[in-house]
Amino acid sequence: MPKYRDVTPQRIVMGRLAHDGDLIEELSAVCKAEGVKLGRLEAFGAVRKARVAFYDQEARTYDFFEIDEPLEILKVIGNVSLKDGEPIVHAHITLSKPDGQAVGGHLAPGTQVFACEFLLEILEGQPFTRGYDEPTGLPLWEGLG
Ligand code: ZN
Repeated sequence: MPKYRDVTPQRIVMGRLAHDGDLIEELSAVCKAEGVKLGRLEAFGAVRKARVAFYDQEARTYDFFEIDEPLEILKVIGNVSLKDGEPIVHAHITLSKPDGQAVGGHLAPGTQVFACEFLLEILEGQPFTRGYDEPTGLPLWEGLG
């Protein structure tokens, strides 16, 4: 059964990230500066190189890999919630290579921005808190519904 509850849009900020910045760290810095505890975000642009992860469901570990070449960001989609009392950005990224082939995964530190435009929607509501989820081994939202 799905577990969910209402959230309310509060405000939206829109901007661009620093050239050569780290994508997930830059997004996290915006959230920290704005005091965001709950939100959703999207972004697109280009990166100089990328580092993403694939969650191995059997091993219950993230396998990280790097793509050490310029790529287009087709889409970053993510959210902001709380883990251990601190806001955390969870984001996935779809990238494209020069021939248009797509690749992507769980966005990890080590993805270097070339240019990136983002939109962050700040939400209000009861906190969404991440905690260990036994069936998946992942830090998923607890206490919903
Ligand atoms: Zn993920």
